[in-house]
Amino acid sequence: MRVWIDQDLCTGDGLCVDHCPDVFVQLEDGIAYVAEQGDPLNDPGGSGSLAWVPVKHYQSVVDAAEACPGECIFIEAVTSAGHSIAGRPAPAQLRASA
Ligand code: SF4
Repeated sequence: MRVWIDQDLCTGDGLCVDHCPDVFVQLEDGIAYVAEQGDPLNDPGGSGSLAWVPVKHYQSVVDAAEACPGECIFIEAVTSAGHSIAGRPAPAQLRASA
């Protein structure tokens, strides 16, 4: 599973960081970014910065996407066949393919 944030839609409320601080961070600009191993992926950000999500964080990332008031957290699930499913999370679909 990979995840990215559309910073143009982010409200800066920090709910994603509350759900999963290992994958989401808020920087000095007050906007949320994804992170890998503690490193924010803010260059360029947006769909150009997808973070791999550790398996142990799958559910909290899905929960964050569902709670996000900006509807700007996008999850790309990779199926067992290696195909990507991109877009807003469809929980049943993600749980089946994660
Ligand atoms: S939950 Fe959504 S709107 Fe809120 S800070 Fe995170 S990405 Fe931005």
